[in-house]
Amino acid sequence: MPLPPSLTTTAPGALPQLLDTLPALLWTMDEAGVLVGSTRAWRETTGVAAGLFTAAFAPQEARSLLGAWDAARRSGQPLRWTGPLRQADGTSRPCVVEACPLPVGDGAPALWGANAMLTTGGPGPAPVSAAPGEPETRPVAQAYAHTFATLVEHSPFGIGVVDADLRLVVVSRGARPTFRTVGPLPGRDLGEVLRLIWPEPLVAGMLGHFRHTLATGEAQLSTPPAARGEGDRHPEAHDWRLERVFLPDGRPGVVWFSYNLTGRQDWESRLHDSEAFLSAVLEALPVGVIIADQTGRIVQDNAANRDLWGGPPDTAGWEKYGEWKGWWPATGERIRAEEWGLARALTRGETVRGELVEYEPFSARPGEAAAARRFYLNNAAPVRNAQGLIIGAVAAEQDVTEQIAVERAQQEDAARVQLALAAGAILGTWFWDLLTDRFRVDEGFATYFGLDPALGREGLSLEQVIATVHPDDRAGLIEAIEEAITRGGAYAHQYRVRHREGHYHWIEANGRVEHDAQGVPQSFPGVLLDVQERRAVLEALQSSEQRLLELADNITQFAWTADATGTITWFNRRWYEYTGTTWDTMQDWGWTAVHHPDHVERALQKFGEQIRLGEVWEDTFPLRGQDGAYRWFLSRAVPIRDAAGEVTHWFGTNTDVTEQRRAQGQLRDLNASLEARVAERTAELRRSNAELERFAYVASHDLQEPIRTVGSFSDLLARRYAGQLDERGRQYLTMLQQGAARMKALVDDLLTFSRLGGEQSALRPLDLTVPFTEALARVQARVTETGAAVSAGPLPRVLGDGPQLAQLFQNLLGNALKFSAPGAAPQVQVGAVRHGNQWQITVADQGIGIEPAYQERIFEMFQRLHTRDQYEGTGLGLAICRKIVERHGGRLWVESTPGEGSRFHLLLQDADAAPDGR
Ligand code: ADP
Repeated sequence: MPLPPSLTTTAPGALPQLLDTLPALLWTMDEAGVLVGSTRAWRETTGVAAGLFTAAFAPQEARSLLGAWDAARRSGQPLRWTGPLRQADGTSRPCVVEACPLPVGDGAPALWGANAMLTTGGPGPAPVSAAPGEPETRPVAQAYAHTFATLVEHSPFGIGVVDADLRLVVVSRGARPTFRTVGPLPGRDLGEVLRLIWPEPLVAGMLGHFRHTLATGEAQLSTPPAARGEGDRHPEAHDWRLERVFLPDGRPGVVWFSYNLTGRQDWESRLHDSEAFLSAVLEALPVGVIIADQTGRIVQDNAANRDLWGGPPDTAGWEKYGEWKGWWPATGERIRAEEWGLARALTRGETVRGELVEYEPFSARPGEAAAARRFYLNNAAPVRNAQGLIIGAVAAEQDVTEQIAVERAQQEDAARVQLALAAGAILGTWFWDLLTDRFRVDEGFATYFGLDPALGREGLSLEQVIATVHPDDRAGLIEAIEEAITRGGAYAHQYRVRHREGHYHWIEANGRVEHDAQGVPQSFPGVLLDVQERRAVLEALQSSEQRLLELADNITQFAWTADATGTITWFNRRWYEYTGTTWDTMQDWGWTAVHHPDHVERALQKFGEQIRLGEVWEDTFPLRGQDGAYRWFLSRAVPIRDAAGEVTHWFGTNTDVTEQRRAQGQLRDLNASLEARVAERTAELRRSNAELERFAYVASHDLQEPIRTVGSFSDLLARRYAGQLDERGRQYLTMLQQGAARMKALVDDLLTFSRLGGEQSALRPLDLTVPFTEALARVQARVTETGAAVSAGPLPRVLGDGPQLAQLFQNLLGNALKFSAPGAAPQVQVGAVRHGNQWQITVADQGIGIEPAYQERIFEMFQRLHTRDQYEGTGLGLAICRKIVERHGGRLWVESTPGEGSRFHLLLQDADAAPDGR
């Protein structure tokens, strides 16, 4: 990526300025290791500004480093060396030194670029103290003379130095084309040389500038018109920058940087050189570098930056920096476009030093699934042109993610230990120096055991520590300690120690014996854990197990345990009492001997199957008692599993079910005989019912004839001979007639009822109006007599037996007329409502009504609620009705309120509906 001219025109000053902003220990040197140039960070960290770069290392390290560098130069490979760097303040810090040859022009002496990277302790070199771009005006040391001349000589930029007499000291390779017509330059007078290539006014002006700088130390910039060449003879135009320097002899001189503005060819080649130089330096840097022009557009970056960001930032201007994912670590807030160091350097001319930034790379790093947040220290500075205008900015980023991670892990570790201590899990820590045999404990340890904390810090003897241990546990403890010291490595032991309040407390010591390479025990650090509660739980568990076994021994059932394969491991006492066996004979499936030979095979097979499946086993079989008799047992075994779900053993019981089985058998027999008896009884009832019905029929049928005879002869007697009887005789005769009529009614009803017990003729579709009209005709006399009002809605077609339905309506209408309210003419309504494939027919009256208690009983034979004096009747009417409705596959019931009336409902099949209701 070519640098924009705006940035390269100030190239002579821009390069050192650029390097100076970097927080890197960076320098260039010649083949002898003499410093040519260096960053301010290098100079301030090491205090070495000139001479051999190895002056920044202790003599022994310097020899090793020079040896390594020699080898690198011979092989042409880059140098890489690790060792301590000596800082200006005399302290040392580990670092990695890298150096590689830089591209220089043909025939020019070799130049090496190098950097030292501090690897621990802090974020890198301390920020430089002076602002970049300040002219370097302190006296140049004698040792620097050669370096200075070399730097100038080989510079691809136009650089020249004059002494206090304005005589040329040195002119750079890059400046020589300007003076190509002049011949050898060093030692010659500047004015004389300039007059050979420039017209007099230009020369005079330029010399004036030189003198001014020499006298005042002010840097100056010559304006292009003043440096304009003389038409076709000297076509170059130059931009000159003058700065005062102190030369090796201690006297002031002036260094100029010139830039040829017209020599296109030259311009490009020098541009190339400067770019190549800059690129090489940048690429070698372990610090990410971004260079932006004045709009914030990224014009160059280096490999370290691309590694850091996981790709090159592709940004058209600083307003777009908002797309970079960055956060301020202190607040967690996203870094806005204008807040980035580079943007601040550009827009406000700010110099940013070691600012911590949390960021997310554009892509995941190798070995990472997704881009994760990281940290870097940001440095940024504006780049100004000769007029002091900001023409760009440079940022340097040093990745400190790992350092921060280590710091955080350390903080977390410390916090965890604090937490464990605070939670009381750790009672204290100890450090036993085995070489001095002193035992140091922390405050927690000391307080817990009532020891003097001061003593704990100075060190106790092992005897003092052992003295706090429960006498019973001392021998074991000493043995465990000796074993750990001999063996080396981890140590854990539980024992009781005396608490400061006097009681003994279970603790667990956890430590580690460190041996040196020769196997000599060095130290024995560790922590003490409170295990009092754990021990208490364990003891409780043991005693609860004991209790369980006692319980198991005393229950009436047999109990046993088996291992995962089904091999019995234990029987309770009841088992031995019943079977009369011993553990010896029971082991290894010996228990099968007490099984009944007819059942043992089946039981074993089923048990084996459940063990294989790991499911509950249940079986019933006989076991032989010690008296030789078998009793039945219900046996169950459940698998017991560990935390991983594996069956570890089985727990089984056998419950005596002999009595239960006997009782069950008896119950079964009893049930069977009961069922038989019920069936017998039902058949008997059915038979006697049929007989009864036959009897009722025969009786009523055969009674009809004599009753009719009595009735008709008593009527005859009344008609012909009533006049011959006295008053009493006529009374007797009337009673005779009434009795005969009643008897006739009774026998008629009885006959009707018993007829309904016979075969039912098939139901036919019929219009219900027909039987209703017939019934109404039969009760017409009574309707007329009582002045009753009988109304009927439209009646449906139903499936039925016409004469029976006429009988039904006759009885219901008769009752409605009969049981009317005293002194009022009866009101009767008949209606029909459809319910699916059935019709509900209702006969309603407003008569005396029926008490709820009797509303069911009235449908039974001979059930009447009144005496004959009150209401005539046989008590058979509703029984006949119910029988008729039942024979029609329907239902008859009553709703009634005493004093208000009754509603008799019945259900009949719709004539046109299919019998199953579809
Ligand atoms: P009865 O021949 O006495 O009418 P039923 O079997 O027809 O015999 O009726 C039994 C009894 O039911 C009646 O004696 C009467 O007490 C009561 N009963 C029947 N129908 C009605 C009704 N519509 N209103 C009031 N009571 C009634």
